Amino acid sequence: MTTQQPQPWHGPANRAVCDGVDSPQAEHRSVVILGGGPAGLTAALYAARANLDPLVLQGVEPGGQLITTTHVENYPGFAEGILGPELMQRFADQAARFGAELRYGSVTAVEVTQRPLHLLVDDDAVVLADAVIIATGASAKYLGLVSEQRLVGRGVSACATCDGAFFRDQEVAVVGGGDAAMEEALFLTRFATRVYVIHRRNALRASQIMQERALAHPQITFVWNTVVEEVLGDEAVEGLRLRHVQTDERSTLPVRGLFVAIGHQPNTAVFQGWLEMDELGYIRTAPGSTRTSVAGVFAAGDVQDRVYRQAVTAAGSGAMAAIDAERWLAHHAVPAASQLAALVDAR
Ligand code: NAP
Repeated sequence: MTTQQPQPWHGPANRAVCDGVDSPQAEHRSVVILGGGPAGLTAALYAARANLDPLVLQGVEPGGQLITTTHVENYPGFAEGILGPELMQRFADQAARFGAELRYGSVTAVEVTQRPLHLLVDDDAVVLADAVIIATGASAKYLGLVSEQRLVGRGVSACATCDGAFFRDQEVAVVGGGDAAMEEALFLTRFATRVYVIHRRNALRASQIMQERALAHPQITFVWNTVVEEVLGDEAVEGLRLRHVQTDERSTLPVRGLFVAIGHQPNTAVFQGWLEMDELGYIRTAPGSTRTSVAGVFAAGDVQDRVYRQAVTAAGSGAMAAIDAERWLAHHAVPAASQLAALVDAR
């Protein structure tokens, strides 16, 4: 195993935040897992079974992106499919059964040049950790329309792989002009009779090969220089109100589904300046592992994956992160925080 040295100080202003609330009474854990989606909860399951007594800070939206999905039909082991929230409840129950402690709370500042690592939770309490697994996920970007947000999960989706099969024999629209939009549109042609790709310009950002495939597909129709102004429908999507950006002409497109594919935003803001990231803000991990640029800090799931982004791949990397953390702790002879506490009590 490669031993990484703590990085020199280059963090943002949040160091002072952690310094200000540092105290001997701060809770000290062996492993703290940030994120309560498939990656975080699988890491919790593995860490708990390794007797690492993990604390999971689930943020404000436990369950991650699957909470906003209805039926999940592509998670192995559920032949009939399962509701997204139910699947995530099962993940949580399984991790808790082996002793993982699941808590609401988000890390609002970090200090990773000190040992143990310092995490400020909800701008309030410091938690010290020997190892940290970051599984804070990525959030799909949405257009920001009130009508769009109202109908998320009821015809508005940001994941064709998750929800495409619900639109069999119907017409749907995809917004975006990048690779993701082309991929979503091509995938949706398996179910939908027609897929409209609505793009705000008249040139695509997608790679040449993806463009060619989408442009040549007989079920895909491009709507150029156009933006969505409103998603129509009360209980479910019934259509879109569109505006041509050059002529300002308004029109209505009667579709049953709207797939928003305008990019994802990894939830890494709090780690900016501390960990190596790519140009889009995804945390870089060493190839074939979940190790980040800082020793004792691991990353799993969508926060480090801009390619696959599936619940099952996130869960897989969560297991990897727990195994990596366990080996790292053993290699560095860091006794479990609970053992340290017992030693102190015994004195
Ligand atoms: P992206 O490349 O950033 O494309 C986002 C698209 O959404 C752009 O066409 C952009 O329009 C449009 N857009 C952004 N904000 C918008 C808004 N508010 N309203 C309307 N349209 C908006 O994102 P991505 O497609 O998710 O891809 C992200 C990365 O993953 C890329 O590096 C991509 O190559 C990679 N990826 C690869 C594959 C593959 O190879 N199979 C699949 C998926 C993703 P403009 O063009 O006008 O800016």
